[in-house]
Amino acid sequence: MGGNLLDKVWDAHTVRELPSGQTQLFIGLHLIHEVTSPQAFAMLRETGLPVRFPARTFATVDHIIPTRSQRRPLEDPLAEQMIAALERSCREAGIQLFGPESDRHGIVHVIGPELGLTQPGMTIACGDSHTSTHGALGAVAFGVGTSQVRDLLATQCLILARPAVRRIDVTGGLSAGVYAKDVILAIIRQLGVKGGVGFAYEYGGPVIEALGIEERLTVCNMSIEGGARCGYVNPDQATFDYLRGREFAPKGEDFDRAVAWWRETASDADASYADRVEIDGNALAPSVTWGINPGQNVAVDERIPIPSEAAPEQRSALEEALAYMDLKPGSPIAGTPIDVAFIGSCTNSRISDLREAARVARTGRVAAHVLALVVPGSRAVAKQAREEGLDEVFRAAGFEWREPGCSMCLAMNPDKLVGREICASSSNRNFKGRQGSPVGRTLLMSPAMVAAAALEGRVVDVRERL
Ligand code: SF4
Repeated sequence: MGGNLLDKVWDAHTVRELPSGQTQLFIGLHLIHEVTSPQAFAMLRETGLPVRFPARTFATVDHIIPTRSQRRPLEDPLAEQMIAALERSCREAGIQLFGPESDRHGIVHVIGPELGLTQPGMTIACGDSHTSTHGALGAVAFGVGTSQVRDLLATQCLILARPAVRRIDVTGGLSAGVYAKDVILAIIRQLGVKGGVGFAYEYGGPVIEALGIEERLTVCNMSIEGGARCGYVNPDQATFDYLRGREFAPKGEDFDRAVAWWRETASDADASYADRVEIDGNALAPSVTWGINPGQNVAVDERIPIPSEAAPEQRSALEEALAYMDLKPGSPIAGTPIDVAFIGSCTNSRISDLREAARVARTGRVAAHVLALVVPGSRAVAKQAREEGLDEVFRAAGFEWREPGCSMCLAMNPDKLVGREICASSSNRNFKGRQGSPVGRTLLMSPAMVAAAALEGRVVDVRERL
């Protein structure tokens, strides 16, 4: 039997196997940002160790950056202090930082692929859960904690247990109005938010192969929400076409040599897997979360679950979620009123996301009571959108067009829900209090669905507007 990508890449980056059964794994690319790196740099200073491979380390500022004005010094002194600390650490260590003044600035998981830093066959790590995003280009990419960021800075290695690989085939095709976000929400609904524990998810099949790279990034981004250690798509011609000409991708003959190696890293046709799952793409519809984790979602034409009809072991979780969300069991999710609409985050803030949302925005005006934000994932996305006139489309429809950053995905910046507000959001987590208000509520959906909800002031089926 042939090998799968995870095993090939793992073997190629193994420094040594440890008596514990774990692997000392060399990490090809380390991405850092302002939230998890300050303590790591401080620990490094205490030990007197230098950064081992500054040329393999790149930094950006995303969580704390405000989206109204990014003029320095920032209005929030704490945010300014955090940026200044990262600038100092990067300067001292010789690490390239894409700060808010750089035209390469943006959310870490948007700029990595965009700049061609993310490449097939690489091992990648970042002190952020959604590092799984980078697997869309055939990389093995992990989110890590602060002490691992320190270890990475000092050694460029991680101590990790090799995950098993679950192959997820999405068969058939997607109908209009159904997007990558709906695919991953359906996968998490079926397999559960803890279903992927111990696994890497390998996504394949006709639907995944037909997705553009940006849509594959959306799918891999939320692997972590299904409990998987990482998620990836095997590199193919679409991957190579996406990378050609990008700033940090190999050039000329080096690119051709790289493509030959990248092809070899892909899983063999007869690769073995610990588990296989099939999802019928033809059956998928636009999805909306109704609860407090991404697995608690239904198709937009379905009803919110009734706890008494669920398996006994699931009832208390359903009751807790419904009580927090204040939604009525058995009622349709369509029609749920919203207060805020957020199009952004490392899941869905790329140009293809904004194009689809703008298609919808062109069909109406944001409802009077709704605050609607569009936050591009990077300066490059914002520039491209402006060149296509998308910023004007959104403004004309009543959306606010903001500067790039994480914004209301996590609300470690001024963009926050207030009180019990309900937000239609293209982000990746609907945990209690995730969007800044401890009692705020989040409905996850695709960017096109968010745009449609913004116009109607309630959850609607985007297919009616396409
Ligand atoms: S957009 Fe959200 S999930 Fe992504 S890096 Fe920022 S805070 Fe994390």
